[in-house]
Amino acid sequence: MSETSVESLVEELLERSDSELDERVRDLELERRRVEAELALAAGEIDRRRSYLDDGHRSLKAYLRATCNYSDAEAARVGRLTTATGSIPGVAEALRGGRIGIPQANELAVAHANKRVRERLVDFAPMLLELAERLSFREFRTCVERFVMLADLDGAHRDLGESIENRRARVVNLNGSLHLDGNGGDPLVNVELEAIFQYFCELEYDADVAARRAEHGDRADEYPLPRTAAQRSYDAFVAIMRGALANHQAGRSAPAAEPVVNILTDHRTWAAILAEAGLAPDSNLAGEHIDPFTGLTSPDDLLDELMADPDGLASRRCETSTGQVLHPHVVLRAALAGHIRRAVLGADGLPINLGRKVRVFTGAARDAAKLLAVQCDHLGCGLPAELCQVDHSVGWSDGGRTDQVNAGVECGGHNREKHRKRWRTRRDVHGRIHTIRADGTIMLPVGVRPPVFPDEPRNEPPAAIPPDVERTIDSWVDDTSCDIERRCRSLRRTAIRHATTLDGLDTGALIRHLRMPVPAAVDPGHCTPISTTEPPVRD
Ligand SMILES: [Zn+2]
Repeated sequence: MSETSVESLVEELLERSDSELDERVRDLELERRRVEAELALAAGEIDRRRSYLDDGHRSLKAYLRATCNYSDAEAARVGRLTTATGSIPGVAEALRGGRIGIPQANELAVAHANKRVRERLVDFAPMLLELAERLSFREFRTCVERFVMLADLDGAHRDLGESIENRRARVVNLNGSLHLDGNGGDPLVNVELEAIFQYFCELEYDADVAARRAEHGDRADEYPLPRTAAQRSYDAFVAIMRGALANHQAGRSAPAAEPVVNILTDHRTWAAILAEAGLAPDSNLAGEHIDPFTGLTSPDDLLDELMADPDGLASRRCETSTGQVLHPHVVLRAALAGHIRRAVLGADGLPINLGRKVRVFTGAARDAAKLLAVQCDHLGCGLPAELCQVDHSVGWSDGGRTDQVNAGVECGGHNREKHRKRWRTRRDVHGRIHTIRADGTIMLPVGVRPPVFPDEPRNEPPAAIPPDVERTIDSWVDDTSCDIERRCRSLRRTAIRHATTLDGLDTGALIRHLRMPVPAAVDPGHCTPISTTEPPVRD
């Protein structure tokens, strides 16, 4: 193979069929993974012997720079991977066997470089390696971020404080050219800023489309838009700045914007957030740790609980709908401020199912389906879910239900192509959507094992809460004279509802619990959980 000239190789490729070329790329990728794993293992042995000293190199990184002529960044990457393959069980095997890719291995190596999560990473390696194989890279990275967040909540909290403390933005004119940069800040404010900017970019796009239509009428689609996306982004920034000044001069203040970003949290994480903040009991009289809503003893940290649940890390949510992982304190603060639109996701059933009564996904059912997906379901398509269409995985004509488990989120292009090429989509046992070609083969990345599909889609709607239980919960929420306590109870009501419908929480026990007399003199300090995450006062 190495003897072949590039010219004859290109000639050979020209003669190959589409599927042979596809096969070639897959083989080469597997080969790359094997080589990368063996390179890391060999470098690991050099590091162990410290044989890099022979030629006067002071470290493995210096040796790699000298021997492979690497950049600093590449030497650091290979160095991290070397450490990770030697320390995280299973990484070298998975990479060498081709089950995970080089970017996934690098992601684990970066997490391992964080001393504060290293120990837990070893426990979680089997779960993370499975997710690396099963999820798209982007989803996997979010899972690693969730893991790092949960393994080091205090560190993440310190980083959050530091980021807010050191926030800065700069708009300067350098030799007549705009330079714009900024760092840090409150994650909630940052997602808001990003959404506002995108909103203004959309306005510029709409203006361009309207201008083109005015000029070319019905044949507008044949002409390019007057400005490029890059030009529109600059003009959007100008519009934001000028609009802000006009607003200020007109004496209108700028309160925090109406919710522009969705924050997602699953009910387990939500329960833990409330318990941790002292908004829900987290231990029984014997001092044992309990689940705040079921009253059952449970492990005292979210990570321990995840160990027993292989899909946990993939289904946990504590982030914006765009996939930005948030510290639990940030989610709680946003909830208390009433400044977010909240969507609590259940572990098993999903909140909005319309069954066979309704033929299309509309309204809340469509919103929910889009919230559950970050991007188009089609393998490799990165289009954000907000810009996608919601359709049935199992077609309506084939008996498919208008339920969340049967919702597929695809961009317009992939939706049309799916119908034209007669592709089908199916959810596997982990809830992941797969596209199946007309010949029955499944579109899959190289190296991964084929998905397992459930025999029957789980379509049972979640059980409704009996009206008398609803009334008891509502009157419990109102049965307090303290405003903060009422707000806390109203937050707990949401979680109780979900625990009741999705987990089959024992409503008899719940009612007895809620009707129990409140201990005298509730300490008001009990209700102010988040003093450490108070946003800094603006100058
Ligand atoms: Zn797509």
